[in-house]
Amino acid sequence: ERLLEVKSLELYTANRALKALASNLEELVAVRTAELEAALEQAKAATIAKGDFLATMSHEIRTPMNGILGMTELLQLSDLTTEQRKHVDIIRTSGDSLLLLINDILDFSKIEAGSLDLESRNFNIREELDSILNLFRPLVENKGLELKSSFGADLPDYVEGDSTRIRQIFTNLISNAIKFTASGFIHVSLTARSGLNNTVHLDCSVRDSGIGIPTDRLNRLFKAFSQVDSSTTRQYGGTGLGLAICARLTEAMGGDISVKSSLGDGSEFYFSINLPLGLAPSSNRTKESSCDPLTTESDALYTKLKVLVAEDNKTNQILAKALLSKLGIKADIACDGDEALELVRQGNYDIVLMDMQMPVMDGITATRTIRSLPIPNQPFIIALTANAFESDRENCIQAGMNDFLTKPFRTEDLREKLSIFQSSVES
Ligand code: ADP
Repeated sequence: ERLLEVKSLELYTANRALKALASNLEELVAVRTAELEAALEQAKAATIAKGDFLATMSHEIRTPMNGILGMTELLQLSDLTTEQRKHVDIIRTSGDSLLLLINDILDFSKIEAGSLDLESRNFNIREELDSILNLFRPLVENKGLELKSSFGADLPDYVEGDSTRIRQIFTNLISNAIKFTASGFIHVSLTARSGLNNTVHLDCSVRDSGIGIPTDRLNRLFKAFSQVDSSTTRQYGGTGLGLAICARLTEAMGGDISVKSSLGDGSEFYFSINLPLGLAPSSNRTKESSCDPLTTESDALYTKLKVLVAEDNKTNQILAKALLSKLGIKADIACDGDEALELVRQGNYDIVLMDMQMPVMDGITATRTIRSLPIPNQPFIIALTANAFESDRENCIQAGMNDFLTKPFRTEDLREKLSIFQSSVES
């Protein structure tokens, strides 16, 4: 009996100790969980802050970059010695690559912050790919490479989707293929399988006969800032962001991207996306008139023109004025759409160069309102925009604009548009 008593006492004590330990442990777990939650919140806030910082910085850097590039262009147009021209050309190429880099960072931070908005519009997928290939052709020929393309028999002409982002994926993959291929070919193919509910699966592939990628590095390729060769002696430039952006974009379009490659054996990047089928538009687009290259004597014609530049960015205002003055034109400036409207109402302008994005009133609204004004001479309105997409062009034309100029533009582009204006007046 005594033994039993002793044992139960021992058990009782052990039980109490165990209970104390358990409650201690619970407290410890609660404290740790709270600590972890706080750390997670901090990490999330840090990611958001990092994304915001990158986005703001890239945007802020872009504005002076436009100024640097524009002014460099003006310098390139001036009389320079051979030595000076060489230096200015270097500023130009360095500026161009810096702008590419900034665009990538801006893009990536936007996607990471979850603010990627995909657009949906009807577009011709064959024409889109053809135009991308045409852009790359000179570069490919320069390197002595062969650029082949093939389209599947079932490929529809029109699909609905974000053509700009699809273009961006193709552009990234093709420019990588060119960059990492010293000899041989680049083959781009696009095939289609029909999907459910009037949709189509597009299977796209970009294959090259380049340096290839070691198999153990393949799985990291689509992560941000990842490069196969990250040594300081690496041969190829780049940020390691291109493929990460492609992966995020295909994912956002409900598709996926993958790669097959081995060292020395070329690479093949595939991506597939699912898009609604589009409709062939009824064609009533205004035809762009072609014009002969102009002589400088004909510039004299332009000195009498009354031109208004509607643009809110100070640097772009200076640039537009400088480029126009090269053609002997003294232009007036409006800082927003509303001001442009007022000036057109009073000013009897021949031409308005209209920025699309402006405070107070955007270019499209300003144009629509100008077109409804009961003025004797409606001006020839040329849109100025950083977006070079077909949909922008169509929006401009629908709003009543006559033509479209993409930024950054050169004197030559401006002269061409003025000659289109001249011929429209003559006819
Ligand atoms: P970047 O080219 O700017 O460094 P990417 O994300 O586009 O960034 O590519 C990441 C890396 O993947 C490249 O640095 C390169 O090492 C490898 N890579 C991409 N495409 C190819 C290719 N076609 N052939 C060989 N390596 C490639």
